[in-house]
Amino acid sequence: MFHKTLPGFIEVICGSMFSGKTEELLRRLKRAQIGRQKVQVFKPAIDNRYSTDHVQSHDSSRVPSRAIEKAMDILSQVDDNTRVVGIDEAQFFDDTVVEVAQKLAYRGIRVIVAGLDMDFRGQPFGPMPKLLAVAEQVTKLSAVCVVCGSPATRTQRVTGPMGPEAPRIAVGAKEMYEARCRFCHEPFESEIRMSHLPRSSFHQTSLETGHTGESA
Ligand code: ADP
Ligand code: MG
Ligand code: ZN
Repeated sequence: MFHKTLPGFIEVICGSMFSGKTEELLRRLKRAQIGRQKVQVFKPAIDNRYSTDHVQSHDSSRVPSRAIEKAMDILSQVDDNTRVVGIDEAQFFDDTVVEVAQKLAYRGIRVIVAGLDMDFRGQPFGPMPKLLAVAEQVTKLSAVCVVCGSPATRTQRVTGPMGPEAPRIAVGAKEMYEARCRFCHEPFESEIRMSHLPRSSFHQTSLETGHTGESA
C-alpha cells in the first residue's frame, strides 16, 4: 500500500485581487516550514510587481521564490527532498501548469496553487478552472468591495487599458485595480450583466427580486 505513505495532493486558493490569496499561501507555507518540510515557491516571470525573487502579499509579507517562464520548468527545478510546492499567480501560466501540478502531486508533493479565478471582465482566468477541477481542496476567498463594503469577488480595472479590446493581462498593483462585488463590478461586457440599467438600480432590483430579466 505504497500510495498511503504519499501525501501528494493539490490545494487551490482563488479569489479576486486583494482577497488574501498570497497571504493565505504564505501562511500555509510557513506552517509547513515549522513542520520542517522543505518548501519551494514558484511564480510566473510576468509577475514582477514587487520583485522577481520573492512572492509578496499586499501587506508586504514575503518568501523567496523562483520566477519561471514556462510552467513545465517547475518540474526540473523541484528538489528531491521538497515536500511542499507553492505556485502563486497561477492564472498567468498556460494549461501545462495543470499537468505540472498533477505530476508533482503524483510524486507525493503537496502542491498549493494560488491565483485569480476571474480576469477584470469577470471571465474565468487561464488554467484556473482546470486547476479548480482537479484539486483535492479549494479555498475561494473574497476581498471587501471598495464601493459598497460587501464581500468582493471581482477585480475592477480602474486605470490603464479598458474596454472590449483591452488586453487581459496588464500587471499592476493597487493603483490599477480594485476589489468589487458582483453588482459594483463593471466588466464592460453588457451581455454579462443582462441589463443596461445603471449600477445603483441594477443592484437594488437584483437584490429585491433575485433577478432582473423579467421586470417590465
Ligand atoms: P491577493 O494575493 O489575493 O491579491 P494579498 O494577500 O496580496 O491579496 O493581500 C491581501 C491584503 O490586501 C489584505 O489583508 C488587506 O490588508 C489588503 N487589502 C487592500 N485592499 C483590500 C480590499 N479591498 N479588501 C480586502 N483586503 C484589502
Ligand atoms: Mg497575490
Ligand atoms: Zn459592491
